[in-house]
Amino acid sequence: MVNSGSTANPFETAKRQVDIVADLLSLDSGMREVLKHPKRELTVNFPVRMDDGGYHVYTGYRVQYNMARGPCKGGIRYHPQVSLDEVRALAAWMTWKCAVVNIPYGGAKGGVICDPKHMSKGELERLTRRFATEISGIIGPERDIPAPDVYTDGQTMAWIMDTYSMLKGYSVPGVVTGKPIALGGSEGRGEATGRGCAYTIREAATHAGVRVKNGTVAVQGYGNAGSVCANILNDEQGAKIVAASDSKGGIYKADGFNPHALEEYKAKNGSVVGFPGAKAISNEELLELKVDILVPAALENQLTAKNADKVQAKLIGEAANGPTLPEADTIFFQKKITVLPDILANAGGVTVSYFEWAQDIQGYFWPLAEVNQRLERVMVQSYNDVHKIAVERKVHNRTAAYVLAIQRVAEAIRLRGIYP
Ligand code: NAD
Repeated sequence: MVNSGSTANPFETAKRQVDIVADLLSLDSGMREVLKHPKRELTVNFPVRMDDGGYHVYTGYRVQYNMARGPCKGGIRYHPQVSLDEVRALAAWMTWKCAVVNIPYGGAKGGVICDPKHMSKGELERLTRRFATEISGIIGPERDIPAPDVYTDGQTMAWIMDTYSMLKGYSVPGVVTGKPIALGGSEGRGEATGRGCAYTIREAATHAGVRVKNGTVAVQGYGNAGSVCANILNDEQGAKIVAASDSKGGIYKADGFNPHALEEYKAKNGSVVGFPGAKAISNEELLELKVDILVPAALENQLTAKNADKVQAKLIGEAANGPTLPEADTIFFQKKITVLPDILANAGGVTVSYFEWAQDIQGYFWPLAEVNQRLERVMVQSYNDVHKIAVERKVHNRTAAYVLAIQRVAEAIRLRGIYP
């Protein structure tokens, strides 16, 4: 069984996943080698002037994993624990994610080892502009298009876009996605991950005979992806949101609550905890509730060998990256719980990033309804592609998604041939 969540070295996990699928697809050893190597890795050490007048040398990475299907795409992360192996793994997963939803991109990822929580806005801007300059030779709208990730946001992307544009001498909005709308961002990008996840849940529920209309939903991690997914399931699909949580704890209300009211409450109070009329529960309890649909939308490694047996949901939609460990996956497969794997379920974000890039290049912007319609088409098609493979090969959706992705990347490599 293929799985993207693991506590081991993430790049070793990523390579193991390729091997498992390569066996299923009987890929030759040369192709396996290509699929297990990042194409290009750039490490940069660069000084940044700090507010106290001194300077500090930071280390950053940009890994372009595979570009057989198009320019590379992937976020930039600012975190003290960033490592080259983590960035390599994330770049591999971006390659497979873009291929699952069949957008014309390869995969990349970047990161800077830093502690953004203890840096001023000025320090973060100088770090971002210098890092953007250091990697400017390998990024660009035709080469590699960064986006926000952990502790980077629209403002970070605006600084990168400006820095890259200054180096070129003209404005290049298509160099990054996840930009503010005023700089060429796309309508609908902010809610694309949660919305895309809700679309795949609707499709999978139909196939699995799980009710969404009047069905009950628990959401772990009521942030961007989780709250948007809850809103769409409630507003557009008639589901009942009965539980939600964040890093401070969770809440439960058997007859459901208004997810928008909870969002407002969290914005005002900093947490879902204490929401009027709801019972307090722990994050662990939330995962084990008797609900129809569970949406893990917080962190990695939440569903493990320890709690998988106690999970009572019939369908799990992975809005988060890597929430399920391989042992839990096996248990869910045996228990006939439908799992929508992260590289499919949360690919709505990168899909609308692709739309943003396409709009920037055309210089012509689409209304929100058109963005959402196109997103829905991509998510429904991708779910059906994955489901078909799962049925044909009698494998779990996660393995099916990897088979689809790796098949597509391998085909592109084969068709292009080995240069020279
Ligand atoms: P976010 O910061 O907006 O929300 C995360 C939420 O999880 C917060 O409410 C936080 O309080 C909560 N949380 C943190 N620790 C928790 C814990 N131990 N238990 C329960 N809740 C906890 O982040 P987001 O953008 O919504 O991302 C959430 C997940 O979705 C991540 O795994 C991310 O990689 C994945 N994802 C997001 C996007 C996107 O476009 N936002 C795209 C793809 C994948």
